[in-house]
Amino acid sequence: MAFSKTLLITGVSSGFGRALAEQALADGHRVVGTVRGAEAKRAFEALGAGRAFGRLLDVTDFEAIEGVIAEVEERVGEIDVLVNNAGYGQEGVLEESPLEAMRRQFDVNVFGAVAMTRAVLPYMRRRRRGHILNITSMGGYITMPGIAYYCGSKFALEGISEVLGKEVAAFGIFVTAVAPGSFRTDWAGRSMVRTPRSIADYDALFDPIREAREAKSGQQLGDPVKAARAMLTLIDSEAPPAHLLLGSDALGLVRDKLAALAAEIDHWEALSQSTDG
Ligand code: NAP
Repeated sequence: MAFSKTLLITGVSSGFGRALAEQALADGHRVVGTVRGAEAKRAFEALGAGRAFGRLLDVTDFEAIEGVIAEVEERVGEIDVLVNNAGYGQEGVLEESPLEAMRRQFDVNVFGAVAMTRAVLPYMRRRRRGHILNITSMGGYITMPGIAYYCGSKFALEGISEVLGKEVAAFGIFVTAVAPGSFRTDWAGRSMVRTPRSIADYDALFDPIREAREAKSGQQLGDPVKAARAMLTLIDSEAPPAHLLLGSDALGLVRDKLAALAAEIDHWEALSQSTDG
């Protein structure tokens, strides 16, 4: 490790956030971690006395975010790295899933990340340095039936992240969208919000997908500790990328998607060309 940094990670109670916090602490970094309960805060702070700082925050409590960041900057120190990790999966067929489920999904996965970013940026911009990691998903590139709101939120965060990177590059601030494949976290377990089934027409398409995801929960290919190590390599990089995939499943599926997209663009090229002039 070059030198010790202060990371602010949202959602350190389990999964990627917890693994990244533990690995960062092991490397000698300081970690401010957001959690949503007193017990989770105690458990997090016990990971590293004097170097693990828990803060109670739901990322959809938009009014509270600026105050939390200001307090962290003043009392803990300058935030070098913001990791927008907090998020969850909303699973459900679009026609069956109320708009309210979509709003909640975007509030957490998109608006929460943007609100955190907007609160941290003035400090990073003043210092002319910083790194923001947005944990998106391979679901920000590829899609499958039954997770429209989740994929929509991750596509949105991928796009927002890429734009932001272009806006703040001149200030020495890097922005990386980190898109994991399937990892052994609580994502498909306790954290997932599943819309109840109501339209039999979708049974044949969707039931096997829901069953397979439930069966696979806990057995996924990816190791969150290895993801954390990869993120620490990214944070240490002199020239981090705008996008990083994690996992061989993400690599294969995203490459297939990009090839299929290129082929579709080629196939319809004449029609696309026909509208100029
Ligand atoms: P996880 O183990 O369920 O962890 C999710 C974390 O986010 C928990 O700490 C949770 O806190 C927190 N969180 C959820 N909603 C929040 C809110 N409104 N405000 C503050 N914190 C909130 O799952 P994970 O896989 O590590 O998820 C982390 C990120 O990785 C998510 O953005 C997810 O979409 C993304 N991701 C996961 C996978 C995968 O296969 N695991 C793949 C691609 C992307 P509580 O304990 O309080 O609920």
